[in-house]
Amino acid sequence: MKNHDGMYIGGAWRPAAGTDTIAVVNPADEQVIAHVPAGTPEDVDAAVRAARAAFPGWAATPPAERAARIAALRDAMAARKDEIAATVTAELGAPPKAAQAVHTGLPIAVAGSYAELAATYAFEERVGSSTVLLEPVGVVGAITPWNYPLHQIVAKVAPALAAGCTVVLKPAEYTPLTARLFAGAVHEAGFPAGVFNMVTGLGPVAGQALVEHDGVDLVSFTGSTAVGRRIGALAGGAVKRVALELGGKSASVVLPGAELAPAVEGSLANALSNSGQRCSALTRVLVHRDQYEEAVALAADAIAAYRPGDRIGPLVSAAQRDRVVGYIEKGVAEGARLVAGGPAAPLERGYYVSPALFADVTPGMTIAQEEIFGPVVSFLRYEDEEDALRIANGTVYGLAGAVWGEREAAVAFARRMEAGQVDINGGRFNPLAPFGGYKQSGIGRELGVHGLTEYLHTKSLQF
Ligand code: NAD
Repeated sequence: MKNHDGMYIGGAWRPAAGTDTIAVVNPADEQVIAHVPAGTPEDVDAAVRAARAAFPGWAATPPAERAARIAALRDAMAARKDEIAATVTAELGAPPKAAQAVHTGLPIAVAGSYAELAATYAFEERVGSSTVLLEPVGVVGAITPWNYPLHQIVAKVAPALAAGCTVVLKPAEYTPLTARLFAGAVHEAGFPAGVFNMVTGLGPVAGQALVEHDGVDLVSFTGSTAVGRRIGALAGGAVKRVALELGGKSASVVLPGAELAPAVEGSLANALSNSGQRCSALTRVLVHRDQYEEAVALAADAIAAYRPGDRIGPLVSAAQRDRVVGYIEKGVAEGARLVAGGPAAPLERGYYVSPALFADVTPGMTIAQEEIFGPVVSFLRYEDEEDALRIANGTVYGLAGAVWGEREAAVAFARRMEAGQVDINGGRFNPLAPFGGYKQSGIGRELGVHGLTEYLHTKSLQF
């Protein structure tokens, strides 16, 4: 077990101001694997001061030089990829293959995309008689969740640095070890001191201090809608820029013209990946009533392959496991048909849940409305396309979606969905495409050029 005692502030690891610590637990075997300091408002203040001091210099650094540092960061992450993947497995419980490909490979690719964008983006443009300057917003307070520990960090820090902003990161308390590796990679990449800073700690303490700090110009938050709402209100009160990536309850719509097996298997694979701990998980599968029973039977066969401890990892914590089990019990209590999985623990140790498949779910049920953030998939029946659209759009969320069917019909349906990104016939995740939500799924976009512009504001010069 390792006891870490530093915060990364002003280009160096410094002792934390207080003595409280956070225990990091391996969710696969419930053992404490490390402790990190629990930051206080004092630590946050030191980090924000360092970021403010570094801002003018970094904002004035030519984009090509900023790009070179971000490329060096990508390379430093790539050089540590095995250590990153092993750490994600240890603190999140992700199976090793997913830890390598998704949790490590994706953020390295995203960092690379911002090295390129920093070098090529036009930070100045001519509009009629005006020159429009796109300038960095200032000091960014970044608050991230645990579900994709490195990706969530890179999706904020890389575009902020590319834009010329400086950053204070408060990573999730369950996964601070991956965040520490990231800070090490930043250090190795040779950024000027204070451009990137990190304070580990609890949300209501260190996170809140960061949101409320006068020296922070923009808060970028990914996490639950409940906390996002609070952060949005605080930022609004201070007239601070805010970006919110929040929860989801996404629908996978199987149109009558779809090939049933790939649609069902693709929806399940999406809903169960990362043990269902994904804001964009396709947890509601909508099937026409004529194909409904066949689809449920296919899903029941397919879900058997997702064995806990093998293809599917544990949930991140005991609290998260209990929350998910509570939703499974609620589904049964409200009259949904439990076809596979259930509330009983599948293994002796670890925060595992047997992937649950529910049929006969109706749109008003709790499991069809609330974000579960675990391996629970609901199959809903629809009468016709209008009914399917009403059900798909009938939640407070609007993060993602999927449509399966004849291509033109599927695209036409996707255009009518209230969601920030829709995959058609299994369309692959594109790290350059904007990612973010409609409705209560958030404000703003991450990734690609849209993610970069979140960190810029505009000034027009008329001459
Ligand atoms: P959470 O909201 O509890 O925590 C997220 C982060 O906010 C953590 O770093 C936490 O310490 C911090 N935090 C908590 N309370 C705070 C406060 N009062 N002030 C400031 N910071 C605070 O969410 P979580 O449990 O870590 O993550 C799961 C949630 O995140 C799910 O609801 C999921 O949908 C959402 N999520 C959304 C996206 C997206 O891109 N839309 C991506 C991943 C996760």
